[in-house]
Amino acid sequence: MASWAVLTEQTVWISSLATAFTVVCERCVESGETFPSVQGTLLLDKMRGSIECPRGHQLRVERDGR
Ligand SMILES: [Zn+2]
Repeated sequence: MASWAVLTEQTVWISSLATAFTVVCERCVESGETFPSVQGTLLLDKMRGSIECPRGHQLRVERDGR
């Protein structure tokens, strides 16, 4: 795995009421993964968090609070 992948942080946005979500890991898309989706959870009172895809890429999760 290329070392730059760790340094390039992705940000995904979820809706204001979402507590469980599925997002696409763009690093996995770039590397040709067949199933690049990642499942994550975020407590309703948290505005941001981070998840890790099955291939070890970090994704920052931001809640759309508007
Ligand atoms: Zn990934």
